[in-house]
Order: sequence, then C-alpha cells, then structure tokens
Amino acid sequence: MRKIINRVLFVIAIVGLSSIFNYAQKISGDEQKIVNYIDAHTEDVIALLEKTVNIESPTENLSGVRQVGMIFKEEFQSLGFNSKWLEMPAEMKRTGHLIAEKTGTKGKRVLLIGHLDTVLTGEKFRREGTKGYGTGSSDMKAGNVVLYYALKALHANGLLKDASVIVMLTGDEESSGKPVEVSRGDMITAARRSDLVLSFENGASSTATVARRGSSGWQLEVTAKTGHSSQIFKETMGSGAVFEATRIINQFYETLRNEKYLTFNPSVIAGGTEVEINGGNIITEGKTNVVPAKAIVRGDLRFISEEQKEAARAKMREIVARSLPGASAKITFSDGIPAMPPTAGNYALLKQLDAVSQDLDFGKIEALDPGERGAGDISYVAHLLPGLDGLGATGKNAHAPSEYTDLDTLPRQIKRAALLIYRLTR
Ligand SMILES: [Zn+2]
Repeated sequence: MRKIINRVLFVIAIVGLSSIFNYAQKISGDEQKIVNYIDAHTEDVIALLEKTVNIESPTENLSGVRQVGMIFKEEFQSLGFNSKWLEMPAEMKRTGHLIAEKTGTKGKRVLLIGHLDTVLTGEKFRREGTKGYGTGSSDMKAGNVVLYYALKALHANGLLKDASVIVMLTGDEESSGKPVEVSRGDMITAARRSDLVLSFENGASSTATVARRGSSGWQLEVTAKTGHSSQIFKETMGSGAVFEATRIINQFYETLRNEKYLTFNPSVIAGGTEVEINGGNIITEGKTNVVPAKAIVRGDLRFISEEQKEAARAKMREIVARSLPGASAKITFSDGIPAMPPTAGNYALLKQLDAVSQDLDFGKIEALDPGERGAGDISYVAHLLPGLDGLGATGKNAHAPSEYTDLDTLPRQIKRAALLIYRLTR
C-alpha cells in the first residue's frame, strides 16, 4: 500500500514539476511571482468586487458613483499613485472622475481606463457557485477590480517602481456628460501624455477588442402640400409627407443596409397635419381624409470610422434631396461617440496580449468582431494612441437584470492584464 502511495506521490511530483518547468520556460521569474501573488489573493479580489457592487452607482446617482470612486482613490494611493478626484461643472449633473497617476522612466507610458457608473440599479452582490451576481458586476465593477489587482500584483513584487501609469475611472461612461469636450477633456489630456491605452470593459476567454463602432444621431423633417385626401397623387397635390418620409427611409434601407459595420435604426416616426417636437417626445395629429403636411423620423447611425460615417451621411443627404412632387425634406446629423477604427497599432497590442495569454497557457486571443460591440469611452482617445479594450472580467447580462461576473475566470483575466502591463512598462 505504502509503495503505491509513494508511487502516486512520485507521479504527482513529476507532473507538478514538469508543469512548473513548462510555465517557467515561457514566463520569467518575476512574472511567476506576479502569478503567484494573484493566486494567493483570489478571495481579496472577490471581496473588493462585493464591496463596490454593494454601493449603487447608476450614472445619475452622483454620491454613489463618487463613493465607489473614493474606494479606488484610497486603493491606488496605497500603491504609490497620486490619486485625485476630478470635479465636473454642477450644471453637467455628473459627479466627475477618478484619476490616479505615477511616473517612471522605463517602457511605454500606459493609460488604463474603466468606469464607476452603472446603467441599472437594485441588485446587491450575491455569490452562487462560480457566479457573482449584482448590478454592474461585469460592466464593469469587476473590470475595475481586474485593472486594480493587476497593478497591485506588480506593486507587491516591486515591479511597478519604474513604470509610468495613469488610471482613469470615469463617473459617466454609460451616459457621458455634455459637452463631451468637457466631460472627456481630462481623458484626452491623459492620453496625450501616454503611449497606449488599455480599457477594462467586459472581457472574453479568447478575444479582445481592437475596434469599436461609433454612434451618432439623425433627424429627418419632411413637409408637403396638404388638402383633401381624394386629391392625393394628383400633380397639384403630390403624395403627402408620410409617403415622402417612407420613401426616404426605404431608400436608406435599399442603399446602405449591406455596408459592413454600418447600421442605422429609424427609431421613431411620426406624421400628420401637425407634428410637434417636445423634448424627447413627438406629438402628432391628423385625420384620415387629410393629406399629411408633416413627418419626422429620428434614428441613430453606427459606424467603424469617420470616413464611413461621412460617406453614409453624404448618401443619406443625396436620397433626402430627391423629393417627390409637392414635398421637401431636410436631414440633420448629430455626433455622439466617435469610432475606434482597427489600426495597426491596436493589432500590435493584441499580438502582445495573445503572446502573454499563450505564455500563461491560457490559449490564443483574437480580435472580436466590431459588430459585436457598442460604443465606449476608449473611442474618445482612439485617434490619439493605440489601444485595446475588453481586458476586464467575463460575465453576462450587462445592462440587464441578473447581471453576473464569472468569479472563476477573474484570476486568469488579472494575470493576463498584469503580465501585459509588466511587459509594456519594461
Ligand atoms: Zn461598461
């Protein structure tokens, strides 16, 4: 019996040693220390996630957002960062952002971004097996924790000393304060003193984000001759504002809908004798025996680059201008979040993350299809420096009830982020 046990122990020892050797060939001694630190602190990671999820912080809850910010302010201070709260003007109705910064002399200057706010509210932290439920758990309180623990693992091993790092956790990612020149001004100046940006929005096991589509809005206003409905289609009357509006959106559909990564959603349509815009509402009035005089359509437009956005707008204007007899129309566009186009610099960062992941035996990482992702904060600085998004935690049901984060994959995500930051800041 003893012999068998000894043999079993021997086999376990060999398997254990060989896996250490395999690991050791691909990652350095310092990197192994980072990995060990993360393995030894998984419960602390979950405790910090629980603490931040249990403070409700939808964008409009200014004190809640700030409270979450204050937790990270202290945490980053403990890592030797100069950590401060950036106030926003009161009329913006946004609480501000946390910025934590340290300077060093080696490697690339990295900007790491996350956000403190959530969309919904109401669900406290609840652990069920490997899932950590709670509002904002995966989008992106766990992402902030991944970002923080990656740096903490470096700091604990004395590996952060020479690095230049700026951390920015915004308080209004889910609904950015207007004007964006002000609410994103600090992020843009932080990007100007950095070489690259890593964003910790929801992650995945084998993909990262090299591109995000931008979003923008449009409004179509149509006017037409009005009169007795029996006269519609006659040369003297024309076809009314509703037919003109539907001609236009149908031609948008026929002309533009197959363009890769471009989407447009006519979300509201109203037509009649009278159409009045009242804030977010459109009020309309009409009778079945009257040819409608007015129509309004509102929608969004999502795009992969500024060029694509401008080209789509030009085509839309062209379609709008081909008015039916008796009608005229105009379209106005509004800018929202810019696009993060898939640049060579972004792909180079992806390659580095992929190498880190493979060296850790976590498998390959490829580019996520930009069509799978909405717009995000990183897009505001994507024109200034290379970047990568999707480095946060994995989970499900973002912006929905029963949101959760996968607790069992948190160590993997932290290790990948920590080693990537470590290698970039050498
Ligand atoms: Zn998010």
